[in-house]
Amino acid sequence: MKKEPFVSREEIEEIVRSHPTPFHLYHEQGIRQTARALQQAFSWNKGFKEYFAVKATPNPRILKILREEGCGVDCSSKTELALSDAVGFRGEEIMFSSNATPAEEYVYAKQLGAIINLDDISHIEFLEKHAGIPEKISCRYNPGGEFTIHNKIMDSPKDAKYGFTKKQMREGFIKLKEKGAKEFGIHAFLASNTLGGEYYPVLARTLFETAVWLQKETGVHIGFINLSGGIGIPYKPDEEPNDISSIGQGVKLAFEEVLVPAGMGDVAIFTELGRYMLGPNGQLVAKVLHIKNTYKDYLGLDACAANLMRPAMYGAYHHITVAGKEGQPAEHKYDVTGSLCENNDKFAVDRMLPEVEIGDYLVIHDTGAHGHAMGYNYNGKLRSAELLLHSDGEVEQIRRAETAADYFATLDYPGLAKGD
Ligand SMILES: *Cc1c(COP(=O)(O)O)cnc(C)c1O
Repeated sequence: MKKEPFVSREEIEEIVRSHPTPFHLYHEQGIRQTARALQQAFSWNKGFKEYFAVKATPNPRILKILREEGCGVDCSSKTELALSDAVGFRGEEIMFSSNATPAEEYVYAKQLGAIINLDDISHIEFLEKHAGIPEKISCRYNPGGEFTIHNKIMDSPKDAKYGFTKKQMREGFIKLKEKGAKEFGIHAFLASNTLGGEYYPVLARTLFETAVWLQKETGVHIGFINLSGGIGIPYKPDEEPNDISSIGQGVKLAFEEVLVPAGMGDVAIFTELGRYMLGPNGQLVAKVLHIKNTYKDYLGLDACAANLMRPAMYGAYHHITVAGKEGQPAEHKYDVTGSLCENNDKFAVDRMLPEVEIGDYLVIHDTGAHGHAMGYNYNGKLRSAELLLHSDGEVEQIRRAETAADYFATLDYPGLAKGD
């Protein structure tokens, strides 16, 4: 898929007059279109709802756009719940899919009326003791073994810390029913960043079959099945994007073949997508400060892994465009680096780009999910601003850049400026 910056070099030059680089830029129209295409793909299911995974892009202005598009939120911490509460998400618009959960977070989630998705059978008593058992409840399922599609291993649930075993799901549902729960949900997240379109349909079939079995075994009413996250995006230009409408049709087929004959055609389908919703709708814009020629050629940017951790952490590929040089041949090989005192602080290694000059702006693609959100302060680096490109072309700051005062805010020590 062709990778294009949201803004031209001239537009970047205009933006940096009031918002210096580096910054993450989000594309409002892209976010709305993605949300609408998803809803359209699952419009065959009456109760369908996307619960956006807040951890991917925890900015209230982004959450507000998604709320306007009919999405809920998936939270896994107290601060994510507080953000969602502030944006106006209420009750069952909030899914609480946490693990190793502190008691006070269950209490808060229950107060907000969120749907609680339990990660372990032992959490039933824990939740009962601290917050009480709600009428509507969900349990996270881990089938163990390897999760395969056409004999290709996608991931290894047996090594994942999440979820109930199949036997525990049965036991858990019976226990929850005894304690007053009336409507049940099943959740699973078995593979991350999948392309090719088959992940959701295969996962759905597994969950639907499990749901039919559980309903027979326990007699509970299963109201919803949560396919969670995991639909991927093409980070590389030669990868094909997922076709969300055919994914929706694939899930529908499994629904009609498994749930409908079992008399469970009223089950609502939920999703908790993060990357798919926001990934391609965000870009990190940085400036080239230095060019260094030693055993290799290096570009030194004003952004670093503290602004985008995925390449350093996972060796992840993020496409890079040199703004204003889109048409030029990529004939120069560079390592594109940040300023951390860590040799893995590289946005790209051996990347072919047009010849770069000091002062050029680089657009790093697909940073809208798990980008700014994974930022940190190592080496005293400060997290960047987040900007929103509105549908009318207007650019608005939706989070300011951190200052030294933010970095020092948790210290009480003479001589440390609190004021910037
Ligand atoms: C991270 C996460 C998601 C979102 O995953 P993506 O890969 O961004 O779609 C959804 N649900 C849960 C429980 C998660 O932990």
